[in-house]
Amino acid sequence: MSDHDIPFNRAFITELELTRIREAAYSGRISGDGPFTRRCQDLLREALGVPGVLLTTSCTHALEMCAMLLDLGPGDEVIVPSFTFVTSVSAFALRGARPVFCDIRPDTLNLDHEQVEGLITERTKAVVAVHYAGVGCELDALRAICDARGIALVEDNAHGLFGRYRGQWLGTVGRFGTQSFHETKNFTCGEGGALILNRAEDVQRAEILREKGTNRARFFRGEIDKYTWVDLGSSYVPSDVLAAMLHAQLERREEIQASRAAVWRRYEAALADWAEGLGARLPVVPAHCEQAFHMFYLLMPSPDARAAFLAHMKARGILAVFHYVPLHLSEHGQRLGGGDASCPVTVDVSERLVRLPFFGGMSDAEQAAVIEAALAFGG
Ligand SMILES: *Cc1c(COP(=O)(O)O)cnc(C)c1O
Repeated sequence: MSDHDIPFNRAFITELELTRIREAAYSGRISGDGPFTRRCQDLLREALGVPGVLLTTSCTHALEMCAMLLDLGPGDEVIVPSFTFVTSVSAFALRGARPVFCDIRPDTLNLDHEQVEGLITERTKAVVAVHYAGVGCELDALRAICDARGIALVEDNAHGLFGRYRGQWLGTVGRFGTQSFHETKNFTCGEGGALILNRAEDVQRAEILREKGTNRARFFRGEIDKYTWVDLGSSYVPSDVLAAMLHAQLERREEIQASRAAVWRRYEAALADWAEGLGARLPVVPAHCEQAFHMFYLLMPSPDARAAFLAHMKARGILAVFHYVPLHLSEHGQRLGGGDASCPVTVDVSERLVRLPFFGGMSDAEQAAVIEAALAFGG
């Protein structure tokens, strides 16, 4: 790759991140649940107005904790989109629950709530809503469906921190929300995540599962005089050095989101006419959703047009990418019965979607180069 190549993603890091990492490192207090972990959790809990937030080692691990908190196991079913990252589903399969794949809507590419009801059985224990690209799923409808039947709604909000659905923060509407702070997400510490606990009664058990199944958190608060093994659990606590980096990103959240919003809007303005002429389409953001500006994608008119477009961009030193391979048709998804699912929109979209380079701090010149290259593609 030459110096002129434009990456798909680049972490938006400043001196502040380094300052916070240095503070944590020099404090000598670098294991988990130190001062920066507490500050991140307090900041997120207050910003989102929820009873509990726990930093985790990843969004995947936060999803695994949801499966444990729901006591899922063999015989249970979880309704999931097929068009998502692997761990939105594998975290539940890991506990032995069976994924029941649901298709997405053709506009937002979010779980099609109208199909969820038809997939519910007496074994259904949870519905996983992934807010694709940081645009909210139809949460009112999903909540109504779940609440009426005592089914847990889990929001995989890896893309959507600080996005809103009808004024409510994404991640705060279901019983649980999960966040990712992986390098490719809006706010990052390299690898990290958070579990958002929207019911106060889940907080104590979540603390225990996250701390290897021990009641260590209560011990450190002085609520008990010794700590011991009390429940299922694993090691889901990130180092305070990572929390320090994350804290800097959260302190900069307005700057980061404003930068991403500007990049997104410039793509939209520059590419709308070109896309229309090509028979491609840009992302759809319903009026009642405030998106989190996680990605900018294009739906190309055909799989061949996508392949040609990716090659065209690559030849110009620009890394555009695609995702997701439908999970119901994946090797392991089929082993779990995915072959029986009917998800035609997922299959179609997965063959035509392209993501443009998109990150906070993307320079005007970098974005101009991407736009110029795209506009030179005539199909
Ligand atoms: C990135 C992502 C995850 C996993 O996040 P990690 O923090 O890397 O575990 C889960 N779900 C979705 C939708 C994602 O995009």
